[in-house]
Amino acid sequence: MKEKIYTIPVNEAFDHPGECGFCVLWRKLEKEILDYVTGPAYMEEDVRGEMDKAGFCPHHYRKMFASGNRLGLALMLQTRLRYLNSNAKEKHTDSCYACNRMNGRMESYISTFCYLWKTEEEFRAKVLSGQGFCQVHFQELMEKGRKYLMKKPYRSMMETLEPFHREHMERVEEDLDWFVRKFDYRFKDEPWKNSKDAVERSIQKVSGVELLEGGN
Ligand SMILES: [Zn+2]
Ligand SMILES: [Zn+2]
Repeated sequence: MKEKIYTIPVNEAFDHPGECGFCVLWRKLEKEILDYVTGPAYMEEDVRGEMDKAGFCPHHYRKMFASGNRLGLALMLQTRLRYLNSNAKEKHTDSCYACNRMNGRMESYISTFCYLWKTEEEFRAKVLSGQGFCQVHFQELMEKGRKYLMKKPYRSMMETLEPFHREHMERVEEDLDWFVRKFDYRFKDEPWKNSKDAVERSIQKVSGVELLEGGN
């Protein structure tokens, strides 16, 4: 497989055995961006300006607080508060600097995915031997993929990926059905099969939140 520097993260994410390669990319990106905004971003005047203006969503404030870097967070909040207090008339918006940055990067990952799908047989085989996608990222791929592929290759990609995605969504549904059945006393001595972590994997499949960091 020919490796270009920008294709490496996407290629690696789909080596991962989990329920969605894009979720792996999303989680890594989130960590990278949150470490940056509570760390080195302090030195970047223009980034700070953008952060002060956009703020963060509740999910990302919670994550930054949980990461324990209290000083980094305090410094970032200091100028955000200062900004809000000196622009008191400005309306509060629900924008988020981290979400904005992540959405931009995810779009470039989707374009890379499309490129690899079109050009690398080996990549296609790897994706198809994996566990599919979560619903959120599959939808994103379907919507944004059009931008990065011509009509014909886009249609051909979707003709393969749609049934593949459905098959894996149904696999997790079956695992979850079995998980629920195990709570019925008549099935209590039956094996768990693949259902022990069916709740975690179902959450990921429906929402794009990766609760299990399987093997990565
Ligand atoms: Zn996903
Ligand atoms: Zn956010």
